[in-house]
Amino acid sequence: MERAARRDGLELGDGSRVAVIGAGPAGSLFAYFLLEMAGRVDVPLELDLWEPKGTFATPGPAGCNMCGGIVSETLVQNLAVEGINLSSKVVQRGIDSYVLHTDVGSARIATPLQEARIGALHRGAGPKDVKDPRWESFDHHLQARALARGARLVATRVEEIAREPDGRPRLGGKDGTARTYDLCVAAVGVNSPLLRQLEALGIGYAKPRVTRTAIREYHLGQEVISRTLGSSMHVFLLDVPRLEFAAAIPKGDYVTVAVLGEDIDNELVDRFLASPEVRRCMPPEWRLEQRSCQCMPNISVQAVEKPFADRFLFIGDCGVTRLYKDGIGAAYRTAKAAARAALFHGISEEAFRRRFQPVCRAIAGDNRVGKLAFQATRVARGFRFLRAGMLRMVTDEQRRPGARPRMSGVLWDMFSGSAPYADILARMLRPAFLGRFLWSTLLSLWPRRRTPALTEAP
Ligand SMILES: Cc1cc2nc3c(=O)[nH]c(=O)nc-3n(C[C@H](O)[C@H](O)[C@H](O)COP(=O)(O)OP(=O)(O)OC[C@H]3O[C@@H](n4cnc5c(N)ncnc54)[C@H](O)[C@@H]3O)c2cc1C
Repeated sequence: MERAARRDGLELGDGSRVAVIGAGPAGSLFAYFLLEMAGRVDVPLELDLWEPKGTFATPGPAGCNMCGGIVSETLVQNLAVEGINLSSKVVQRGIDSYVLHTDVGSARIATPLQEARIGALHRGAGPKDVKDPRWESFDHHLQARALARGARLVATRVEEIAREPDGRPRLGGKDGTARTYDLCVAAVGVNSPLLRQLEALGIGYAKPRVTRTAIREYHLGQEVISRTLGSSMHVFLLDVPRLEFAAAIPKGDYVTVAVLGEDIDNELVDRFLASPEVRRCMPPEWRLEQRSCQCMPNISVQAVEKPFADRFLFIGDCGVTRLYKDGIGAAYRTAKAAARAALFHGISEEAFRRRFQPVCRAIAGDNRVGKLAFQATRVARGFRFLRAGMLRMVTDEQRRPGARPRMSGVLWDMFSGSAPYADILARMLRPAFLGRFLWSTLLSLWPRRRTPALTEAP
């Protein structure tokens, strides 16, 4: 089948033209990998990287692909192996712990392993009011790597997409640029109006199901941040309807607040930020209305069934990504698999089904397990005695040197996305985990003077 497709011209060869729509992590990494692999096998390609945000130099949402900005050390190391080194100007590596906040107390969870460490990054040039940009934008950094490999930046929005009679994709830009390609790779994320046009192409693509989230940036200054939030990422597990997960992440002079759940709106964000748990870890002078920047991007909650067709690939968020966490890691995995499939196995639907789909299937399958893991956390979050048991278990593990970090490890991996959800759920279902959790819950029901005080945050 694959060989037949190659005879039909559904392959990349000398001078083939490739369009990548979107220079977020998925688009730039795809461009980087494809050009790097093509260089190694001596196949010169023309690759256009279409991106309306240009080089991500404008502060605020106009130059930023909105996100919490947490990446695992494993991803940083994987990128280094690929030749993409992220300096301390791009990734802030000082975050050494999570502080878990609930209405029954707080507990600190220290980094379990070196490779499970996390880093924080800015996707764009920084929040709207940034004056002294000490950081380099992550998306700019990846894009620069792709351009250095020979990609050409087309700094405009794709507004039209159609297919020539021979099936080749034709793109039209806002600035009037129009070009026909051999392969079109959509990496437009889940906030783009172009998704509707991609659906209308009649190639079997249906955009992912999404929900709205919120991100706010607050300027507090480094001195205040180290005094209050310290070097921890603060995670809130509160019994608030529609709120799944919220975090406050220190980044230099700023704190990024990310709120995930079911169709988040401003009222819910304000209610969350006004909660005593948030107030306790922010400085007393902090005012929630004094934000530097805010956006309400979508997040994918259901992967695309068929992220490919003859001459078309859908990578990153607009194809298949990880549920709630590690979207940048999933962009890396799908971009690399897509580049390898297109260059070495052809650009037919059949080639993509055999060589690209397995990676997407693995991520989507793990997400299904992830939904169960989140459901279990939701149950634990919904009952005060279970929240207390969870916190008690974490506190005991963190206090006793050499204790197995059963609950701490599960929570760390749930928050950071450092491990597959299947692995996390398997650990949650182990008898030793469940027994300890039951015991901790019983102990937490004991009169308070007989239980050790919970760790205070930060
Ligand atoms: C609240 C929130 C918090 C998150 N936190 C994290 C986190 O901490 N860690 C993590 O790993 N992931 C996180 N994610 C997920 C992460 O943001 C995404 O998985 C990641 O950005 C996906 O990369 P992408 O390249 O597929 O899409 P995007 O980053 O969305 O990039 C898409 C690009 O396409 C461009 N584009 C769109 N339309 C067009 C068009 N018509 N023409 C040309 N270009 C176009 C856009 O300008 C953009 O540059 C979070 C997401 C949300 C919503």
